[in-house]
Order: sequence, then structure tokens, then C-alpha cells
Amino acid sequence: MAKVPAFHRDRPGEKYHDNDRCGPGSEIPLDKRKPGTGGYPHCSECERLNREGK
Ligand SMILES: [Zn+2]
Repeated sequence: MAKVPAFHRDRPGEKYHDNDRCGPGSEIPLDKRKPGTGGYPHCSECERLNREGK
């Protein structure tokens, strides 16, 4: 488990996620997740996890 296709929650101030170990990302209910970046900035937690190869 690691990097996954980008997903986001469509509301102001959000970031997009692409790592299934991300805490904030995993808190988004499945039915609220939308595919892609949504034009949001990358989540810093996902960025760190991806960089560490997790
Ligand atoms: Zn994230």
C-alpha cells in the first residue's frame, strides 16, 4: 500500500491526496472522495510519505 491515484474532497481550503497512509486523506469518507487533484495543492503529508517511499 502506498501511492494511489489522486483524490480530493471538493470544498474550499482542501488539498489533494495520493497516498493511502495519509491521515487527513484517510479521514475523508469514501462517498466524499472525488478523483483527481481538483486543482488543489498537494497534501504535505502525502508528499512526505511519497518522498519516503511509503
Ligand atoms: Zn494527504
